[in-house]
Amino acid sequence: MLKKRGVVVICDSLRNDFVGQQTPVLNNLQQTATRFTNTKAVFPSTTRVSSASIATGCHPRQHGLLGNTMILSEPEGLITRSVGKPAFRQELFEATGHYLRVPTLAQRLQPMYTTAIYSNVSPGAAYFFDPENFGYVYHPAGSYAPGGSQITGSDALDIKPGADGDQEMTRRFCQRLLQDDTLGLAVLWLSEPDKSGHAQSLGNLAHRAAIEHAQDCVDKVLSVISTLRARGEDILLMVGSDHGMQTITHQVDIGEELVKAGFKASVTSRDLVVAPNGTSAILGFDDDYPHRDALLPWLGSQPWVGEYVYGESLADWGLPDESACRVAISLAGDESCNHLGIPGTSWYAFDPDTPKDMIGQGQHGGRHRYESHPFLMVQGKAFPEGLQISTPTSLVDYAPTILNHLSIEVSAMQGQPLQTLARINIEPHSHFIAS
Ligand SMILES: [Zn+2]
Repeated sequence: MLKKRGVVVICDSLRNDFVGQQTPVLNNLQQTATRFTNTKAVFPSTTRVSSASIATGCHPRQHGLLGNTMILSEPEGLITRSVGKPAFRQELFEATGHYLRVPTLAQRLQPMYTTAIYSNVSPGAAYFFDPENFGYVYHPAGSYAPGGSQITGSDALDIKPGADGDQEMTRRFCQRLLQDDTLGLAVLWLSEPDKSGHAQSLGNLAHRAAIEHAQDCVDKVLSVISTLRARGEDILLMVGSDHGMQTITHQVDIGEELVKAGFKASVTSRDLVVAPNGTSAILGFDDDYPHRDALLPWLGSQPWVGEYVYGESLADWGLPDESACRVAISLAGDESCNHLGIPGTSWYAFDPDTPKDMIGQGQHGGRHRYESHPFLMVQGKAFPEGLQISTPTSLVDYAPTILNHLSIEVSAMQGQPLQTLARINIEPHSHFIAS
């Protein structure tokens, strides 16, 4: 039996400010864990990018996955592709010669430890946790064993996004944790409350029920972890979210706006290409694009543009400066409330490939307060019970923290092992949980 393991549970889209008295399971967990109260999302604050950043300990500039939709430089020119589709892995490889540019946890852990991710979000988010199949990936669009052979029959994950699917996935995840003592890292990525938040007003009954349901799944994992610890295992548990959500008050078709203003030849042209990412967008163009100098000040005068960066400043947002990523935009928004008193509103970048009216519903992708603050609690020997740490932390800290727990060297990552931060912040009377 392995003595040490890492277990990660992601409640997709659960905002940090929603975690407290109204979430009793997570509130109780906080009493036996260290809570990091100032954890930042990556940019864009979308699930697929978050998955790659949690898996690699790196920002998009280093790992190369730039959004839920991403511009690729293909032989016919620049084009926007959806990262969510199962085929995207191959499209990215053909356009760039790589899947992710840096190793994932699954790669770093093998052959000593096996990794398994159970995911009920988009295929792209599941597969970019471990795009080269070093470990097990369980997802409704296809489950794969190490080496990439497809898992079929009753072992495949035949579920749907939402509460019922999450519950069944959690049941299997817990069973696996109890039975498979070769697993060094097990990741459970729940579809709620993301699925409901995108379809509801944030804070309404259905959204709150989805948060309740995600907590039930966390509770089941906590119970299994108690059993494993009672067997003598040294478990590092990280429970968090990948990003939060804002309420959408306006939407804009950025491609159409660029055509109207004369910066783009047509909505399907490849001279200037838009990758809409919820409440953010990335613009791509080649070096010979003639309107760059006029485009940048024009963007600054648009009501739908909040912050934007280009050139060397892209690095400040964790992005590369290349044809596929010349300008990054966090759409406009503010701190005002929806009709249920939930703060944080934003514009939405309409995606012509998946047209949806998002007014009044939850979205994310940008850098506003409520979408860019996921929650994070870590429970384990190095993490004092009940301690709250407000030092800024990030999704890129998951991977180094897991490596540190498993006594594997942390190298070439932007994140830091949170054990170090916990040690610095230890208060005299804090208690560590028993092994
Ligand atoms: Zn997400």
